[in-house]
Amino acid sequence: MEYEQLLEEAYEKIKPIEANKDFDRWEIPQADISISGNKTTILNFAQICSALRRKQEHLSKFLSKELASYSKIEGDKLVINRKLSKEIINEKIQLYIAKYVVCLECKKPDTEIVKEGGFLFVHCLACGAKHSLGRV
Ligand SMILES: [Zn+2]
Repeated sequence: MEYEQLLEEAYEKIKPIEANKDFDRWEIPQADISISGNKTTILNFAQICSALRRKQEHLSKFLSKELASYSKIEGDKLVINRKLSKEIINEKIQLYIAKYVVCLECKKPDTEIVKEGGFLFVHCLACGAKHSLGRV
């Protein structure tokens, strides 16, 4: 038997168990917020980003655009210049997850964003699928 074929078979045997185990453990992180005046602070912003394996700058840019508001990272928190409900913020985070985190092939959240030839891709660490997010 060819070495590569052996490797592929071994990989097939391990892959589903490992990936499913990770997925069961994964929960969509919920934003913990506090409102003061016209500002909304996501208190656990850094935690959410690390759970999603995404950079704080990437999620903050997405939220600013979606909520049409200026936002600023302050340590582990994100301060948004608008009064917002927890529901709206969580809805936007779920939208972000659907667009940038979850694999379109296997629906697992174990992905990373990679840059290749001027394009951005979501690369799945569970099944290896890649889908384009368009130009950088
Ligand atoms: Zn996948």
